[in-house]
Amino acid sequence: MTPVTTFAGRKVALFGLGGSGLATALALKEGGAEVVAWDDGAAAVERARERGIATADLREADFSEFAALVLAPGVPLTHPVPHWTVGLAKAAGVEIVGDIELFCRERAAIAPQAPFVAITGTNGKSTTTALIAHVLREAGRDVQMGGNIGTAILSLEPPSESRVHVVELSSFQIDLTPSLDPSVGVLMNITPDHLDRHGAMESYAAIKERLVASAGLAVIGIDDAWSRAVAERREGPLVRVHVVPPGLAQGPASFDGLTARDATVIDGEGRVVADVTGIGSLRGAHNWQNAAVAVAACRAVGLSDDAIQAGLRSFPGLPHRMEEVGRRGAVLFVNDSKATNADSTEKALTAFRDVHWILGGKAKDGGIFPLVPLFDRVAHAYLIGAASDAFAATLEGAVPYTRCETLEVAVPAAAQAAAASGAAEPVVLLSPACASYDQFPNFEVRGDRFRDLVRALG
Ligand code: ADP
Repeated sequence: MTPVTTFAGRKVALFGLGGSGLATALALKEGGAEVVAWDDGAAAVERARERGIATADLREADFSEFAALVLAPGVPLTHPVPHWTVGLAKAAGVEIVGDIELFCRERAAIAPQAPFVAITGTNGKSTTTALIAHVLREAGRDVQMGGNIGTAILSLEPPSESRVHVVELSSFQIDLTPSLDPSVGVLMNITPDHLDRHGAMESYAAIKERLVASAGLAVIGIDDAWSRAVAERREGPLVRVHVVPPGLAQGPASFDGLTARDATVIDGEGRVVADVTGIGSLRGAHNWQNAAVAVAACRAVGLSDDAIQAGLRSFPGLPHRMEEVGRRGAVLFVNDSKATNADSTEKALTAFRDVHWILGGKAKDGGIFPLVPLFDRVAHAYLIGAASDAFAATLEGAVPYTRCETLEVAVPAAAQAAAASGAAEPVVLLSPACASYDQFPNFEVRGDRFRDLVRALG
């Protein structure tokens, strides 16, 4: 745990007692603050009480007594409407912060030079965070990984100069962190997402920009217009990362950052500094970007290119993201349950050929129309869930398909057809391009079920 000492002896209100909220309350208390916590869920309040946290309905509290209101990242600060605690805090002139802000202040107080790598972007945050942490760990570094991935930041060990914090941040978390100042700030990409919470693309992009604007070194993927503009505005040290799409021979004529091309990472002098050819967990052009970003971040923390290459090679990948879950003879089974929209599924279809594609669930706007150009990679489609009729209509005449209704039917059917296909390396790919909620509580349960069914094939 990282005790928060910067509010010692003062009274702090905290709203939102889910996983990270409770961890924050405990860290504040450990550091000597007087915490008054609340949540709309009675069970969460009870759990906090059992851990010794004082709780009270903040509607009845005197906000003028508080030094700060700490919000859990899921609680809206602005969009669609500010949470009621926000109004009470603002009326009393009380600052509103999140757990990442408390970490930043603690770092400034106890170890301002401690290496702190923060990662944001619309896509690829978790993979890149896990990849950077893995590479550093393999090189023998003391690494603490958390934030929006895995462990709440204040449950990690305290910052120190001999320890690297590698932290994934969502826009919601950045929004609650006014003094965010990582030693390395990574911005992967900015595409429309979560606009319900941030109102407009401009404000969503501005929040993301804050993470790199204040960083010692900024690492920015420049393949979308929004991120490119952020890189252009950046004044301090910067590594730009550019991905040359597969099939294009050339990148820009001269480029002083890192270029990811044909599964390699190339520096400004044209030298290959990393190679991810044949690394199953880093298939696809999006993962070339993740690897290039990891190169830039790990170099900044002092790793040699050789050490980085060794770490890339042993990266196990994250569950549910193009995760290889097994082979049966020539057939490879891949769990990409995290792909809940066509954009994500596009990444997986681009990475494979002879695909036996399991898809469906609760469809997103646009369905699978954006994937039509990739249909020649699909040998057969297996439809599950609520989107079956809509997806069958898109596949009709272009890709043979079977209506399976459930994963239980789809997995053995796809396995059998793939094995009988005669292709050199056919792939059974669960990449649903849909939310899971019609049949599963979340994408993790859906992916776990797929993995179990593959194992049960014997
Ligand atoms: P996040 O944490 O930002 O949601 P993940 O690392 O969990 O991102 O990846 C989610 C999905 O986003 C992956 O399944 C993949 O389809 C896609 N993805 C991963 N890395 C990138 C990237 N660098 N650029 C674009 N899309 C990516």
